[in-house]
Amino acid sequence: MKFGGTSMAGTERIRRVAGIVRAQASRGDEVAVVVSAMAGETDRLVGFCREANALHDPAEYDVVVSSGEQVTSGLLALTLQSLGCKARSWLGWQVPVKTIEAHSKARIETIDAPGMLAGMESGEIAIVPGFQGISPEGRVTTLGRGGSDTSAVAVAAAVGADRCDIYTDVDGVYTTDPRIVARARKLKAVTYEEMLELASVGAKVLQTRSVGLAMKSGVRIQVLSSFIGEDAAPADELPGTLIVSEEEMNELVEKGEMERQLVTGIAHDKNEAKIILTRVPDKPGAVADIFTPLADASINVDMIIQNVGRDKGETDVTFTVPQSDLARAQALLEDRRSEIGFNRIITDSQIAKISVVGVGMKSHAGVASTMFRSLSDRGINIQAISTSEIKVSVMIDEDETELAVRVLHTAYGLDAAD
Ligand code: ASP
Ligand code: MG
Repeated sequence: MKFGGTSMAGTERIRRVAGIVRAQASRGDEVAVVVSAMAGETDRLVGFCREANALHDPAEYDVVVSSGEQVTSGLLALTLQSLGCKARSWLGWQVPVKTIEAHSKARIETIDAPGMLAGMESGEIAIVPGFQGISPEGRVTTLGRGGSDTSAVAVAAAVGADRCDIYTDVDGVYTTDPRIVARARKLKAVTYEEMLELASVGAKVLQTRSVGLAMKSGVRIQVLSSFIGEDAAPADELPGTLIVSEEEMNELVEKGEMERQLVTGIAHDKNEAKIILTRVPDKPGAVADIFTPLADASINVDMIIQNVGRDKGETDVTFTVPQSDLARAQALLEDRRSEIGFNRIITDSQIAKISVVGVGMKSHAGVASTMFRSLSDRGINIQAISTSEIKVSVMIDEDETELAVRVLHTAYGLDAAD
């Protein structure tokens, strides 16, 4: 079981969490719980580091920012004890959660937890602070922001859990953002691949890395709400959204528990910006000259289109980068203007990427054409397109984001019935 920062914000909420944990344990399960820091706490701790030393040593930064989870794990253990449960905390170094050295962005390597497992077998609930681990040098590390989802999946894999229930402030994964489409539906299940695509294009329910890890280690995840009443359906009845392998998804469909859909969800992302380089020489090596310096600067390029060549052996190249990297990308390219040999650089951050995602499209034609037709019927212009086996993305004017999402949600038959 994993509880996020909103669920852990204050002793009152921790008491509610303890109630949910106790209910699960009283069904006869051995339980490990991974917790986040109280909402806002990690930001506060990061702020202290900046104030103390703008050029902070990442190892000491980790000592400071990992402390939020130490507090909540101890508090949850105390609260469970007050409810009559056996419980104890296992800090990252005690489990141990072994990570690589990279402070502030470490990756978990192994979790070998015989002590914790023995405790669980004897009926003791194990509480593990998320986000933290221990480096080969024996120092505290952290996993990068949002990292306790990844801690939870890694712990679930290590103890061979039946399921990793991620309790959060939403009650599942939806067909699209319910703030845009009132008729968005909660999905009963999505595959790892779909979740990865949805997460990377703006549906921020779980840290993307945690989904990748779950896929690799075969951990079944359920996303569900921690804001539930006494009479709520227990987690074993799967009230949230399951994130599972394609095989398990197929079984669910065969058993009639899921409908087979062409498109599972629609995501939008307003955090990209567009760059157009005009009159780039249309010759071998030209695009390499553009994208190599961007890659060297760790700027992630997403959509790329090279227009048909103009006369005089020239072409325009359009691509997108994260908005936060736009200024850096622009400066970098300006510096190499003569090397690359372009004429003008045009940028636009008023764009949005809309993606339709679904494993169903692997075996069906017509998903992309439905998208293009529906958007054009509403006068929405498509500026770029990219696809993968289970995703079609288009770039449009940012002002048309909400309209596009609504139109597509209806076009693919995703609207909930009344
Ligand atoms: N507390 C950490 C953060 O805010 C880790 C997490 O909650 O996932 O990034
Ligand atoms: Mg989180």
